[in-house]
Amino acid sequence: MSRRVSILGCTGSVGKSTLDLMERADPGTYEFVALTAHSSVQELAGMALQYRPEVAVIADADRYEELARLLKGSGVEAAAGPSALVEAASRPVEWTMAAIVGAAGLEPTAAALQQGSIVAIANKECLVCAGDYFMRLAKERGARVLPVDSEHNAIFQSIYPGHDDHIRRIILTASGGPFRDWPREKMATVSREDALAHPVWSMGAKISIDSATLMNKGLEVIEACRLFGLAPDRVDVVVHRQSVIHGLVEYIDGSVLAQLGSPDMRIPIASTLSWPERMETPAEPLDLAAIGQLDFEPPDENRFPALRIAREALIAGEGATAALNAANEIAVAAFLDEKIAFLDIPRLVSECLEALDKQQSLPSRFSGMEAALAVDQSARRLTSRLVNGS
Ligand code: NDP
Ligand code: MG
Repeated sequence: MSRRVSILGCTGSVGKSTLDLMERADPGTYEFVALTAHSSVQELAGMALQYRPEVAVIADADRYEELARLLKGSGVEAAAGPSALVEAASRPVEWTMAAIVGAAGLEPTAAALQQGSIVAIANKECLVCAGDYFMRLAKERGARVLPVDSEHNAIFQSIYPGHDDHIRRIILTASGGPFRDWPREKMATVSREDALAHPVWSMGAKISIDSATLMNKGLEVIEACRLFGLAPDRVDVVVHRQSVIHGLVEYIDGSVLAQLGSPDMRIPIASTLSWPERMETPAEPLDLAAIGQLDFEPPDENRFPALRIAREALIAGEGATAALNAANEIAVAAFLDEKIAFLDIPRLVSECLEALDKQQSLPSRFSGMEAALAVDQSARRLTSRLVNGS
C-alpha cells in the first residue's frame, strides 16, 4: 500500500532532502498528493512531472499561467495563490512535510494539522509565531507533530514519552555560525556572501542569515518551549562548533541523553518519515575517532544580541514572539537585498518590539490564527518603515 504524502515547500533545501529520501524507496512506496513552492515554477513543474502529485501549487499567483502550461496534458492539476496552498495542504494524506520558510507557512501548516495525521514540522517560524496554538490544534485534532529541526528532533529522540516530569532541562547546540570567532567591530562589515556561507550546514538563505546572527538559536529556544511545553528557563544553549551533538536532555537524576549524527538534514527528516520505526539514509556514518575532539562554549550574547532579544520575547509571550519573528523576516530580507547592514538586523528587531509594545498590548497567548496574523502584519509594517528610515 502506498503512503499518501504532501510536501509543502518542496523546492527548498528541506523539501529537496525529503524528496531525495523518498526517491531511494521502492517504486510505489509513496503516493504524492500536493507539492508546493513559492516562485520556482520551472523546478516545481519538473518535480510534479517526476513525482506525479494530484496537485502542484505555486503560491505566487502571477506564475499560474506558466505552471499550467508546463503541466498541460500531464494529469497533474495546477493551482496558484495562498488559498490554493491551504486547500492543497488540507487534502487527506498520512504524512506532510511542512517546509515552507517563514510565517507564510502558518496557514498551510495549520491546514495539515487539521487533518489529524502526521505533520513533520521544519517551518520553525510557525511555532515561534503561534506554537501554543499549533500544539493545541494538534492535540484537538489528534495530529502528531514530529520536529524536523535537527536540535528538536534530537530532543524528541532523547525523551521517554509520558515522563516529562523527569526532565530537568534541555540543551540545544549551536554551531555558532560563520562569525563565531569574529570581533564585533569586524561584524559591522559583514557582506551578504559572508553571512550566507555557513561553516557546517547547507540551508536556505533565510535560515543561513538567522544562523549567522544567532537569531536562529533564539527562534529555536522558543520553538523548543512550544514543542515540548517547557518554561523558558529550562532550555539552554551551548555552542558546539562540530555540530555532531544536536540536542541533549538532562534528567532529574543527573543523566544526560543526547542524539549525535553527521550534520545532514536527511537524518532528522528520515526519523520523521519512518517514525516510529527507522530507515536507512545515505548520510555519512559518524566517525568520532576522525573528528577527534568535541568543543563546547557558552554563547556570547554581547556579540550576538539576537539570542537575548528572542529570550525576552519568549518571556513576554506569544504576541511578542510573533512580532519578533515578523520583524526578523523583514530585516533579513532587507539585509539580503543589501538595504541594511548585518548588525542592523537585531537592532531593528529590538526597535520593532519596543515600538509595538508602546503602541498596543501584545497578547501573551493567542486564541486563534487571526490574532497571530494581525500581530505578524503590524510588526511587518513597522519594521518595513524602520528599514526605510521613516
Ligand atoms: P528554503 O528557502 O530553501 O525553501 C523554502 C521553501 O518554501 C521553498 O520551497 C520556497 O519556494 C517555499 N516558500 C518560500 N516563501 C514562500 C511563500 N511566501 N509561500 C509559500 N511557499 C514559500 O528554506 P529551507 O528549506 O532551508 O527551510 C525551510 C524551513 O525549514 C524554514 O522554516 C527553516 O527555518 C527550517 N529549517 C531548515 C533547515 C535546513 O537545513 N535548511 C534546518 C532546520 C530548519 P521557492 O523555491 O519557490 O522560493
Ligand atoms: Mg536547527
